[in-house]
Amino acid sequence: MHKIIVAIDGYSSCGKSTTAKGLAKHMGYSYIDSGAMYRATSLYFHDNHVSFTNEKEIEKALNNIEIEFRISKDGKSETYLNGLNVENEIRKLYIANMVSEVSAIAAVRHAMVEQQRKLGRKKGVVMDGRDIGTVVFPEAEMKVFMTADKYVRAHRRQIELTEKGDLLDFEDILKNLEKRDLIDTTRSESPLRRAEDATLIDTTHMTLDEQVEMLSLMADETISRTLRKS
Ligand code: C5P
Repeated sequence: MHKIIVAIDGYSSCGKSTTAKGLAKHMGYSYIDSGAMYRATSLYFHDNHVSFTNEKEIEKALNNIEIEFRISKDGKSETYLNGLNVENEIRKLYIANMVSEVSAIAAVRHAMVEQQRKLGRKKGVVMDGRDIGTVVFPEAEMKVFMTADKYVRAHRRQIELTEKGDLLDFEDILKNLEKRDLIDTTRSESPLRRAEDATLIDTTHMTLDEQVEMLSLMADETISRTLRKS
């Protein structure tokens, strides 16, 4: 079977991860949530009071961090930090409020990118994040860049958090999104930007099912095209 790499980048709460999971299922590929790796690293930094400016502390922390994805009984990919299931904890707002600062640290990015490349070595992966098509897998056969209106994104995020029992003010969620967008797009180390060869998809008026359907069609076409070329 001919396998490819699918890179899905874009802003927070555009439906990247749900679409990526649906697409991975359609293709029989594994799904890798690169944001979860930055979130798990942030949780470690938080719990161990790692200073964001002390290079030695950061290096030591990175050497002590092991992140894995395990499949739960109901088939969901869950994030483990040093053997502990942190899937719920890393989705909380206090982590969202620090993750963009942690992921702007060059040493953190280098460590994560190395692990992400290892995870994609055998291809057959759908990975979502901010720099997958530009830095992690610039050679990915299929690249998508997602965007959506920020109010729609904040509203989606609020629904997601409410479903998990986190009742938060719309304004706080919007502020967190705006702050993350700003840090993610302006950081010096691999800022969020669309790769020149990535297809831009605005999901403001799309349902998740429509997003999965659109990407599945694109992926099927990409595989046929790369097969014809090889
Ligand atoms: O995708 P998610 O919203 O969980 O990502 C959390 C944060 O991790 C992003 O706001 C961004 O700061 C960082 N991130 C990154 N590079 C990636 C994935 C996520 O910098 N490839």
